[in-house]
Amino acid sequence: MVLDVPELLLLGPGPSPVPDRTLAALGTPLVGHLDPAFLELMDEVQTNLRSLFCTENTFTLPVSGTGSSGMDLCLVNLVEPGDRVVIGTHGVFGGRMKDLVQRLGGEVVEVSAEFGQSLDVEAMVGAIQGGPTSLVAFVHAETSTGVLTDPVPIAKAAADAGALVMLDCVTSLGGAPVELDRWGIDAAFSGTQKCLSVPPGLAPLSLSARAIERISNRTSRPPSWYLDVGLLNGYWGGDRVYHHTAPVSMIYALASGLQRVLEEGLELRFARHREVAAALYRGLEPLGLECLVPAAERTPMLTTVVLPEGFDEVTARRTIRDQHRIEIGGGLGSLKGRVWRIGLMGHGAQMTSVTRVLTAMGDVLREAGHPADVPAATAAART
Ligand SMILES: *Cc1c(COP(=O)(O)O)cnc(C)c1O
Repeated sequence: MVLDVPELLLLGPGPSPVPDRTLAALGTPLVGHLDPAFLELMDEVQTNLRSLFCTENTFTLPVSGTGSSGMDLCLVNLVEPGDRVVIGTHGVFGGRMKDLVQRLGGEVVEVSAEFGQSLDVEAMVGAIQGGPTSLVAFVHAETSTGVLTDPVPIAKAAADAGALVMLDCVTSLGGAPVELDRWGIDAAFSGTQKCLSVPPGLAPLSLSARAIERISNRTSRPPSWYLDVGLLNGYWGGDRVYHHTAPVSMIYALASGLQRVLEEGLELRFARHREVAAALYRGLEPLGLECLVPAAERTPMLTTVVLPEGFDEVTARRTIRDQHRIEIGGGLGSLKGRVWRIGLMGHGAQMTSVTRVLTAMGDVLREAGHPADVPAATAAART
């Protein structure tokens, strides 16, 4: 090994484990970012991203940056000062959207829910109808809490009000159905390091024709040069004009990761995520643990587990890393110290991940004097 880092099983909120084939793709010899072979690869990546997002949107591409850069691109192009933007916040990532819209001079109408609860659809609809709404934004799978939101009723209310809809699909894409065209989503972004099992560094993104039209009718230019949709379209659209140097190696990795996702097949991949999550749920009870989120609202790729009162989770998580060689996530915001976040994403969504993490959690709970039946937990997971 060239660098001194441990080999860990990544079962936290991301990055997820990357298969060897995708890692190897990173090492492919470089070509120029305007080389015909690379342009062909760009076309393939765009086509495959459309399949994943279930969309015909022309403007579908990987933004050079992590998932958050996708959020930035959508908002700096779609929001103008004074625009009324309804934002659902029920976790950390909705809060980021609010921050950026405020920076852009938009008028934020926030519909919030406690961490761990889902968005109140009626409250969202009421907020959308409460004034001339320009954009409605919320998170599909909240990685900070483990809640999955059904975007359809909210998107419908937005369309009826003439508003555009933006959906954060960073964690859901590749692990649960994301159907932009059928759902009526105008702007969606994701990240490579969650259910796509590619290293962090790109933000797959798609904008509808309505969103592009809105952007071309702006009264002011977007306040970002790097993320200006019009300029980016010069490179990723037909003309292939230099804008910035595409991160060639990361696009190799994404191309390889997307091939893998489509080879498995979306339906089978989603089923795998659901089945592996269900196995984890079954294994928690014998450990004396339960999920934070009610069964119907859980997102399969990220499970929030409520910890016993007074349990020193920081030390226990460190032991899980050092001795069991597994990374899991701690709680964020109001959930800090109260929960663990177990990610079963992409290549990590396997039965062996479930049994390994149940064993590790059970061991540290027992060491701290909590009753936890590890053999029963792994047996329940396997049934
Ligand atoms: C991880 C994540 C992000 C942020 O992505 P980065 O790649 O860390 O920039 C945004 N939203 C959700 C739901 C996420 O899970």
